[in-house]
Formats: sequence, C-alpha cells, structure tokens
Amino acid sequence: MKIAVYPGSFDPITNGHVDILERTSPLFDKIIVAVVHNVYKQALFTPEERVALIEETTGHLGNIEVECFKGLLVDYLKEKDASIIIRGMRSLTDFEYESHMSMINKKLLPEVNTIFVMADSNYICVSSSGVKEAAMLGGDVSSMVPTAVTRELKRKLEQLSAK
Ligand code: ADP
Repeated sequence: MKIAVYPGSFDPITNGHVDILERTSPLFDKIIVAVVHNVYKQALFTPEERVALIEETTGHLGNIEVECFKGLLVDYLKEKDASIIIRGMRSLTDFEYESHMSMINKKLLPEVNTIFVMADSNYICVSSSGVKEAAMLGGDVSSMVPTAVTRELKRKLEQLSAK
C-alpha cells in the first residue's frame, strides 16, 4: 500500500492545500494529513477544529485520513508505514526552507523521500496566515478558502468580538 503523509499547520486549510491534495490523491492509496501542533506558532483554530475542517473539505477525495501529530515527523512516518512526505511549493522562500527540511528528514530516515508539488498559479499568494489576517480585519476571503472555512472564520470572528 502506497501511503504518503502531508504534514502542516493547516490553520486553517486553504484552497491551496485542497488543490495539492486533489492533485496528489490519485497517486497514492492513502494520504494522511498530519496536523502539526507547532508550539512556536500562535494558532487561531485548535488542532481538533483544524482536523474537522480538513475532513469536511477533503471528504470528496475518498482516500484522505486526518490526524493530529506531535513529535518527530520521521517517527510518525515509520509508525504509519509511509515513506513519502508531500509538501507544497510556492516561492523561493518555501524552496530554501523545504529543501533544508527534506535533507534533514533524509539524514534521519534514508528511505524517506519528500515530493514537492508546485502551487497552482491561482493559489501561489494564498497562505493560512494571510487568510487569517484578512478575515480578522473583515476582508472577504471566500476565493481563497473552502466554504466551510469561511463559515468557521466568521464564527471565530464573532466569538472574539463578543469577548
Ligand atoms: P507549515 O507550518 O508546515 O508550513 P502550512 O499549513 O502553512 O504548514 O503548509 C503546509 C504545506 O502546504 C507546506 O508544504 C506549504 O508549503 C504548503 N502550502 C501552503 N499554502 C499553499 C498554497 N497556497 N499552495 C500550495 N501549497 C501550499
């Protein structure tokens, strides 16, 4: 069984992430989206909320599993019997960081390979952080995220403004 892991913060999932999954889903028997709990990044959505949004927006693909993940990525890959990491690539900045990470992961676990998928030209400028910032200031982000995410961003904004 060919299993790949797509790790990331997904805070929240955007159309750019969904597009990467739509294009890689036919290449694997199963893709596990691993929602990373990054202690250094201030998150808007809890890991559980992010998992629920990813499940809702990728259910149509049929071979996507979503889990929260903490710890070393290569240990997680071993546990899941996966040897492929999927990452999206938007810019030279992504390239520098991603190539470095892929080399570290290969040193840690030589059988692991990272595949990089170029972002669709429509989504190159789309980032979770940009979406959050615009949405929190009242901007319309509906062209950048799935409908479920627009709905949950509105709900967060209402919760925050009620405080
Ligand atoms: P991380 O904190 O690990 O960068 P993100 O959720 O920001 O988590 O991104 C997860 C992966 O998705 C990364 O490989 C990132 O480059 C990719 N990605 C993010 N936004 C887009 C996009 N708009 N198009 C394609 N890939 C993207």
